[in-house]
Amino acid sequence: MQTKQLVNHYLLNYSKLELQEFVQLMGLEKFRGDQIYKGIFNQALEDIDQLSTLSKKIRNQISDISEIRQFQLVKTTKSEKDDTTKFLWELADGKKIESVIIYEGKRVTFCISSQVGCALDCKFCATGKMGFLRNLNSGEIIEQVLTMKNLAKNKPTNIVFMGMGEPLLNLKNVLKASDIVSDPDGLAFSKNKITLSTSGVIPGINKLAEMKSPYSLAISLNSVFEDKRQQIMPISIQYPINDLMDTIQKYVKTTKKKVTFEYILIKNINDSKEDADELLKLTHRLPCKINIIPCNSDDPEYQPPSEKKVKWFSDYIYDNNKTSTVRLRKGWEIQAACGQLYYKHENAIGKKLVSGN
Ligand code: SF4
Repeated sequence: MQTKQLVNHYLLNYSKLELQEFVQLMGLEKFRGDQIYKGIFNQALEDIDQLSTLSKKIRNQISDISEIRQFQLVKTTKSEKDDTTKFLWELADGKKIESVIIYEGKRVTFCISSQVGCALDCKFCATGKMGFLRNLNSGEIIEQVLTMKNLAKNKPTNIVFMGMGEPLLNLKNVLKASDIVSDPDGLAFSKNKITLSTSGVIPGINKLAEMKSPYSLAISLNSVFEDKRQQIMPISIQYPINDLMDTIQKYVKTTKKKVTFEYILIKNINDSKEDADELLKLTHRLPCKINIIPCNSDDPEYQPPSEKKVKWFSDYIYDNNKTSTVRLRKGWEIQAACGQLYYKHENAIGKKLVSGN
């Protein structure tokens, strides 16, 4: 029987309402959709046969035309310094994405991707070099969380959209996934522990302010000087830093929430006293957190400063600011290298194909 060919419903990609509609189209009662929803999200069941609230007949009916999980694990790498782990997944269409688990004391952060590749071409980021391939659907976003929950040492305490892609350019699916992850009948994860990290997409920030988003917002700042920011983050040409800061001011006022600024520290590019002073000046009136992350790139132009310089920079920001919480995110270097695992893997395959091995 060609059951495989009929499988085309990816159940993780459906909201509660969509699952209710799906079962009704099959001639079943609406509440069956709620049972599937709880089973696949709340209980994290991976196989339709495990949905014991449904009869065998209904399970067969559903499994003939649908599946719950799609990911294949391609590769895992672990940091030598700590247990921080990066995963490369293959999606149903053969495309690949990365996700990361970062352990810092009691904190367990899942860094997840929102797109395959990215159009924004930040110069220090390997994902930017891939270009944009496609948006992830909400099921693919959630499957990263569900699968890593099985592989992590501890439960996640934080989920951040800091993997591949710009989440505010795939806002509809990112919000749909976040709503399911934080739904008590879904993954029951705390809303304010979900962070959307943007490179500064102003219309997306305005939209989050307008809807009074319950999720946290982080801005990948990386330089406070317009010319330098444009050089390392071309998005700053479209959305200049002054407009971005005005938008963030409005966001903070409307949502009454703090924002986080991510600052990837790059040797001889954004690590001087002048950079630190300007960063302090720009952020001093905002309720915010500042995360300093040493750069980790394969590109010789974008290297981290010496450990001494990294410490000096973060101490200087810490000592001289009045309003923000400053953290030097040490285990995060692996994440600042977003896209590298994909690149290494694809290059290795390319070399094999060329050499015919
Ligand atoms: S840092 Fe983020 S926004 Fe910039 S290219 Fe990489 S994935 Fe895209």
